[in-house]
Amino acid sequence: MVTIGYSRAFTYTMIGGLVWSAWALVRSPPPLFDAVFLLVLCLVATDLISGLLHVILDNPRSLDIPAIRGLAEGFQRHHENPARIYEMPLYEHLYVMHMLLTILFVAALAARDGRALVVFVSMVLALHIMQMGHLWSHVPPARVPRAVRALQAAGVLLSKPQHDQHHTAPFDRHFCIMTGMCNAPLNVAVGVIGRTTHWWIAIFLVAAASPLAVAMLMARLHAR
Ligand SMILES: [Zn+2]
Ligand SMILES: [Zn+2]
Repeated sequence: MVTIGYSRAFTYTMIGGLVWSAWALVRSPPPLFDAVFLLVLCLVATDLISGLLHVILDNPRSLDIPAIRGLAEGFQRHHENPARIYEMPLYEHLYVMHMLLTILFVAALAARDGRALVVFVSMVLALHIMQMGHLWSHVPPARVPRAVRALQAAGVLLSKPQHDQHHTAPFDRHFCIMTGMCNAPLNVAVGVIGRTTHWWIAIFLVAAASPLAVAMLMARLHAR
């Protein structure tokens, strides 16, 4: 069984992907409406995707799946020691996303359409906002930048009181860690199908693939 490994190589590939995408998008830009629509879709979908991934990785049954055991252990240790998220080096907190983003870049390249590259660039932005949103919801408020506190108060970023509701045993609610806007519907869904079913993996994969799928659909409709 393959175990997910992380390295700086993914960070370099992701940065190379950003440079490539910028060059390709300047040379051959997609329609502005399509680009803005996909950017907004990625930002909104990422809050839901963050919650779905969190449900999977908080599931004790995920510890039995070798490919995601390391990630699941990390998430479940986070409940025991929440302060570590801001005590560890920032790069260590962010670079776990870079392998997923490298995979997305390869998929976007294969799609051979500027809209797919917009999705890649938007997801780089969104996943970093997600990681920082989660981190800032744990940092003692006095140490959070004033502008971030204003965004938290406005509901644009996950607030500490909202995320504190997740950090209460049995850790079965409020899984979204970016804006928190998808927490209410996800809480209902978790209540209905339970948090330990492996169906969440299938639901996550569909949600994670959806921005790229929408971009491809738009490209196909445009080509007609
Ligand atoms: Zn959790
Ligand atoms: Zn947390």
